[in-house]
This record gives sequence, C-alpha cells and structure tokens, in this order.
Amino acid sequence: PGLPAARVRSTFLDFFREKHGHLLVPSSPVRPRGDPSLLFVNAGMNQFKPIFLGRADPRSEMASYRRVVNSQKCVRAGGKHNDLEDVGRDVYHHTFFEMLGNWSFGDYFKEEACSMAWSLLTEHYGIPADRLYVSYFSGDAESGLTADEETRQIWLDIGVPPKRLLPFGLKENFWEMGDTGPCGPCTEIHYDHVGGRDASSLVNTDGPDVVEIWNLVFMQYNRDVDRSLLLLPQFSVDTGMGLERLVSVLQGKQSNYDTDLFTPLLHAIHQRSGVGPYSGRTGADLGKVDTAYRVVADHIRTLSVCIADGVHPGMSGAEYVHQSAVRSESSANQLSDQRPPPISCQIRVLCQSAVRSESSIMDVINENEAQFLSSLQQGTRLIHRTLNRMDNKHEVFPGSVAWSLHRDLGFPLDLVDLMLEERGVRVDHQELDRLMAENQKVASELQSGVRSQVTLDVVSLAELHGAGVPHTDDSLKYRYTLD
Ligand code: ATP
Ligand code: MG
Ligand code: MG
Ligand code: MG
Repeated sequence: PGLPAARVRSTFLDFFREKHGHLLVPSSPVRPRGDPSLLFVNAGMNQFKPIFLGRADPRSEMASYRRVVNSQKCVRAGGKHNDLEDVGRDVYHHTFFEMLGNWSFGDYFKEEACSMAWSLLTEHYGIPADRLYVSYFSGDAESGLTADEETRQIWLDIGVPPKRLLPFGLKENFWEMGDTGPCGPCTEIHYDHVGGRDASSLVNTDGPDVVEIWNLVFMQYNRDVDRSLLLLPQFSVDTGMGLERLVSVLQGKQSNYDTDLFTPLLHAIHQRSGVGPYSGRTGADLGKVDTAYRVVADHIRTLSVCIADGVHPGMSGAEYVHQSAVRSESSANQLSDQRPPPISCQIRVLCQSAVRSESSIMDVINENEAQFLSSLQQGTRLIHRTLNRMDNKHEVFPGSVAWSLHRDLGFPLDLVDLMLEERGVRVDHQELDRLMAENQKVASELQSGVRSQVTLDVVSLAELHGAGVPHTDDSLKYRYTLD
C-alpha cells in the first residue's frame, strides 16, 4: 500500500517543474566529471558546483539555470560522506540512493524554499505535520558563524510549533560537500515513524524511529583549502531528500528495505540463496541473516549503477568496490550456509569482469559463471581437506595451498582469508607473497581471467543511464534473475 516509488519520484519532479517553474535536468553519472575532490557523486548539488562558485562557462546551458529540479544518483562510500559502515546495520543508509532535489541559483532563497518544501510534504504527499520535526543551524562561535534565526522565524510563520523546531551545530546543520567547496547552513526535516508523542529528543540520534528525510542548504560560502570560509558571489538554495526514505514514509514502512524499491531484490536473493526469507529484523543478534540480505541488496544496486556509469575497479572507485565485495562475501556466507556463497560470486564477478570490460553492462554481467562456481566448490573442498589434515595447534594455513587455490582455481584470496578466519586460522602470507612474486606473470593473467555466469538483469539501469532522467515508471526498476 501507499504511493509506488516511481510515483513518489514523479510527484516531486512535477511539483517543482509544473507548479514552481523549475527546469528538469538529468541526473549526472555517479562518476564525478572533472572533480578530483570527489570519489563519487555524493549529492545532487555536485554537478552544479561551477554555478555555486560563479565559474560556470557563460556559453554553457548551465549558466542560464535559475530554478532546477532533479533526482540524482548518489553513492556514499568513501570520502567525506561515507556510509558504508552503516549499510545493512540500519534500515535507512544505503551506499547508493537517489537524491531528490530542487535548486535556486541566485533566485529564491530561504522563505520560498521552506514553504515549498512544507507544502509538498504536508499537502501533496499528505504527511501529517505533527510527525515532522525541523532542525536549524545554531551557530558556531569558533567559526564566527551566528545562529540562523531567520530560518527559525520562517518555520514559525509557516506554523511549525516551537517545540518541534530544534537547533543543531556544525555537524548536523552546516552542510559541506567535501573538504573544500560550496557549503552553508542548512535546515532539515525529520520524520517520526511512530507518532503520538514528543519525539524531539530523538532527532539526529541515529535511531530508526525518527529519521532525517530532507535537507535544505543555503549555500553562502566556499570552503577554501586553508579551511577559511569565503562568501559566494551569489546565494543559492540546494535541497536534497532521499527517495528511499521518503518512499518508506509514504508506504508506511519503518524500513527502506520494506518498500517496493527493495522487496523484489530481497525476494530474488532469497530464491537464489535458499536461505529463509528476509524477515525484516534489525539489531545485532536477531538480524545477522537479515543484515546480510540488506548488505547484498544494497551492494548489488550500487555495483550495478557504478558499472552502468563506467566506474571500474582500478579507477577511483576501486577501494570501495573491493571493500563491498569483501563485505558482500562475508554477508553472503551468512546466506549460504554450507553451499558455496552464491551472491558473493556474483558481486565479485561483477567487479572483476568490470576490470577488463569497457563494453556494455550486459557484456560485463553476462559472463559464464558456471566455471567460477565449480571452482569455488572445488576450492572449498580443498580448504576443508587441508584443514582436516592440519595439526590443531598449527594455526597457519600453508601458503602453497592458498597459492594453488588462486592459481589453479581462480579462487579469490580474500575469500580464503575470510573462510579461514571463521576457524581462527590464517594463511601463511609470507610464503604466499613469495610464491606470488615468483609468479607475477601468471598472477596478472589470473586477475583478468575470472569468469562468471551472472544473469543479474540491469537493462533498465542501462536505459536509465542512457536516458539520463529517472522520471518514468520504469526507471531504476531492478529485474533480477539471479540464477
Ligand atoms: P544522515 O544524517 O541520515 O546520515 P545526511 O545528513 O548525511 O543524512 P544529507 O547530506 O543531508 O544527509 O543528504 C540529504 C538527504 O539524503 C538526507 O536527508 C537523506 O534523506 C538522504 N540520504 C543521505 N544519506 C543517505 C544514505 N546513505 N542512504 C539513503 N539516503 C540518504
Ligand atoms: Mg550522513
Ligand atoms: Mg544528517
Ligand atoms: Mg543532512
């Protein structure tokens, strides 16, 4: 029940476009263009950075932008905004998410931005006002920044009661893109999933009950390399609302994973892994398997989008992709029990194939995984045989066996480590490194030779990438056939 995600998105875009004269611009790819200060696009404003700084090429279309709306594909894994550690452990941080945003470049400012946001949420989406809390910037003496009383007054005039208007400092209410770049005080809207109580003490406390949904940033400064704040040539508005969080509100779900953006994916993972279904539990003890489900679902989305947008391991995203592959593997182990970890191979293969394929996403994904899976099975048996033969006191796994797993079977070495870790055993890395060094040439060939049979269908993502604008019902529709 509730508004489907695609309608949530289109309602946002239409509101600003049709009712308030904003120009709809496409999402940029998640790989930043010409901005070395960023690993991934982490907010809707990234592509407009030159406008904020007053550096847009006057001949470019961008130079004429005054009011703009879009839905931006964002990745927060690395850099200033890195949510990798939260993903899966909570139900509202993803490494990939869509950010709905509206902008004013030297056009409207605080008052209009706040009243449009309030009207959209409470009148158009019909969210009860008594579930919403608003935070504003309380100032920071050290930086010489005063409290944003103007914004507080605007919210009071709109009708937000004083007890639901909360001041916060730099960390929460002064938005910065990265270590340098445009920044400014912000005001944020938070939603109480429970209701019928005073939840003001729960705002910005990292719990699942009261969640930040929309950030309205008033861009006034540029953070310089020496950390100083310089006034921007013109004041602008930059807003960002997480689509997944808004959808969870409008579908009456506490968890983003219980919305139509994720349930088909979780279902597919269930069918493929053969483990009990995703049960929606959170928390360390209850939710081990569920956490694994969430991590795998999250990372599949991210890797798909990254590959669609041309982020390949070995480029800027390598570190992330590597980390997520490892995390997915350990998560997938939770899902797979005795059997070779199915999801993990797929994610790993997505990464590894991407290393050598610059062609279409489907080429990247439609590899023959059968060989890889059987290698994994053989490798797992070899690991168990070796462990059984090992002296109990002997904690070091022979480097030569690890090497042969890698060389002969293409078995990922970090997976060997992970599997052994569970038994409290570690690989003899000294011996392994020596063998690797001796066989540099073989090793580099192996790197590029790993095969997969992933049938993860990301055609629609490819289309999204091509079309640029995620505003149709089909955009970001994941069709997974995980076997
Ligand atoms: P949080 O405090 O929850 O980490 P944030 O303050 O870091 O969020 P902003 O930089 O203000 O987030 O981004 C604007 C909006 O984007 C947030 O209000 C939220 O709705 C959404 N958002 C931010 N990070 C994520 C994420 N990792 N996954 C999903 N949505 C996100
Ligand atoms: Mg954050
Ligand atoms: Mg926040
Ligand atoms: Mg925020």
